Amino acid sequence: MVQVEKVAAVTTGVSAGRRGRRGAPPPFDADFVARWLRASAAQIAVHRDFLTQLDAAIGDADHGVNMDRGFAAVVSVASAADGLSPGELLVQAGATLVLRVGGAAGPLYGSALREAGGSLGDASAFGLPELTGALDDALAAIVKLGAAEEGDKTIVDAWTPALRALRDARSAGAVAALHAARIAAEGGAAATTPMEARKGRASYLGPRSVGHQDPGAASTSLLFGALERAAAETPPDR
Ligand code: ADP
Ligand code: MG
Repeated sequence: MVQVEKVAAVTTGVSAGRRGRRGAPPPFDADFVARWLRASAAQIAVHRDFLTQLDAAIGDADHGVNMDRGFAAVVSVASAADGLSPGELLVQAGATLVLRVGGAAGPLYGSALREAGGSLGDASAFGLPELTGALDDALAAIVKLGAAEEGDKTIVDAWTPALRALRDARSAGAVAALHAARIAAEGGAAATTPMEARKGRASYLGPRSVGHQDPGAASTSLLFGALERAAAETPPDR
């Protein structure tokens, strides 16, 4: 497993005054992860045809369909997974994505969620620093598997700015930081349009891949949107 330096769990808060106090319970738990996974599935379902159209332009027109199939399976796993820790739930979700999404995206997103889950371990609750560390580990897994760098027109172009924004905004509290991450992911996805693909199926097109948004970067921005939503819906007594 990729090791990332963890930040001390001092500011865990959804809003600084209320949850950032020392001794307050960390705000995130298995329900939060389940909400993230369900919101991701809902976002992917709504945007399934859009993602598939993006993939039709520079790939093989299956990204939306693949992701929708995989996340629908993740929702079934999550609803049957009573009693799992947040980390275990993410590990199961990742394994499901590897099995059910297929293509390049299945192993990439699947490994990402598995590593994120491994990073959280068996803790029953966690805060923003641990979430940030888990997302760092997720991106490291994507890069280890796919060897893409920023600018290659892949999911890395949405994950990387999202995590940069998350770190930069972490003192503002979890919801504000995850909002910044979602905006940055969307910006990163939009910024793939003028890029020439250097990884994945789109790279076979060379210069003809220019002028189209990368489907994987677009789906990553949906996952960050779902994360923001899941955090915003965290009950106030948690
Ligand atoms: P496939 O190309 O096998 O049909 P999908 O259509 O499901 O797979 O996913 C395509 C997306 O996968 C691309 O839009 C890109 O974002 C992402 N991708 C492909 N190769 C890589 C890679 N080496 N590293 C990171 N992301 C990649
Ligand atoms: Mg495809």
